[in-house]
Amino acid sequence: MKELQERIVQDGKVLSASVLKVDAFLNHQVDPQLTMKIGERFAQLFADEKITKVLTIEASGIHFALATSFALGVPFVYAKKKKAVTLTEEVYSAPVHSFTRQETYQISVSKQYLSPDDRVLIVDDFLATGAALIGLTQIIKDANAHLVGIGAVIEKSFQEGRRLLEQAGVRIESLARIASMSPEGIQFIQAETV
Ligand code: 5GP
Repeated sequence: MKELQERIVQDGKVLSASVLKVDAFLNHQVDPQLTMKIGERFAQLFADEKITKVLTIEASGIHFALATSFALGVPFVYAKKKKAVTLTEEVYSAPVHSFTRQETYQISVSKQYLSPDDRVLIVDDFLATGAALIGLTQIIKDANAHLVGIGAVIEKSFQEGRRLLEQAGVRIESLARIASMSPEGIQFIQAETV
């Protein structure tokens, strides 16, 4: 997505060869217009898939899931990282290892909100190692729901996430694919025209 790539170049900060800070517009302060356009783009890319639900993980995926599900006219569900006291019903859960925080945490989704009839699109802010997204695919599998694919806003293509998910046969659509980056600049896999 051209506008997204331009925004990453303009407002993103490369903290190291592997960490990109985008909290000026994407995951701390949020640009609502850009967020809605991202949702529309995912809805367009997966338009033929008869999606019934969008799934993400708290917190940085939530606004993209909202924008996408709004465009598709379906509900979205976000996996919780901590079990809330109000989450009294049974849950699907999966472990996720965070490489940035060096810890493993459980994500969970109430069994009420995923069923075998669901055709699910996963949406998230980043595809990096793929750990978080693989956790979500596990939950969809446990629910016997159908995974339609993954929409990632930014993919760091030099990390292993895409390869691992593609090996599992998952369709991935990323709106900005970063081939490499350094404080001197960001190289995308392809310059987007749309
Ligand atoms: P994973 O490694 O599981 O693919 O990424 C897990 C989560 O870590 C992403 O959803 C995202 O919130 C965060 N993350 C991974 N890489 C980056 C990065 O370069 N910058 C920022 N801001 N967050 C990242």
